[in-house]
Amino acid sequence: MLPTVAIVGRPNVGKSTLFNRLVGKKLALVDDQPGVTRDRREGEAHLLGLDFTIIDTAGYEDEDPQSLPGRMRIQTEAAVDNCDVALFMIDARAGITPLDEEIARWLRANDAPVVLVANKAEGKAADPGVMEAFGLGLGEPIPFSAEHGQGLADLFQALLPHL
Ligand code: GDP
Ligand code: MG
Repeated sequence: MLPTVAIVGRPNVGKSTLFNRLVGKKLALVDDQPGVTRDRREGEAHLLGLDFTIIDTAGYEDEDPQSLPGRMRIQTEAAVDNCDVALFMIDARAGITPLDEEIARWLRANDAPVVLVANKAEGKAADPGVMEAFGLGLGEPIPFSAEHGQGLADLFQALLPHL
């Protein structure tokens, strides 16, 4: 059985874009609207010779915004409980939001190792967001661009010890 990586993070950070890139097929719906992934998806990912099962966690587009953190917590914890490593993605252009901080708290309380990925990091606009991500207390963020395929070698290095 392949090891499992769960991609977690708030809506619209680029989780499904990364999932599709690593699976090599457009199994997950990518959209400009936050939270278009309607359910959790699994695929077989390939990253520079590493093979693993990858889980893309769902969006919450029909949810009352007040209930978003609660719903996300259930989704996130279900995915993370069954993984070898959690890939926590933030949007480096948007910077760290209160929901990112909350997800970081759930992850710190969980046993799964966490790899922190600062997505949308192509170009200088993302530099402050990458710096902010250090403050989440989950180690060094990997500057990454799921859309442009930047940071794949660093992601490989970060995942390798856990798979
Ligand atoms: P999810 O809700 O976390 O699954 O996010 P999606 O994968 O659906 O992406 C949300 C939006 O971010 C889409 O418009 C993507 O094209 C965009 N996006 C994803 N990755 C990147 C990236 O590396 N750079 C930039 N600039 N945009 C990205
Ligand atoms: Mg998605």
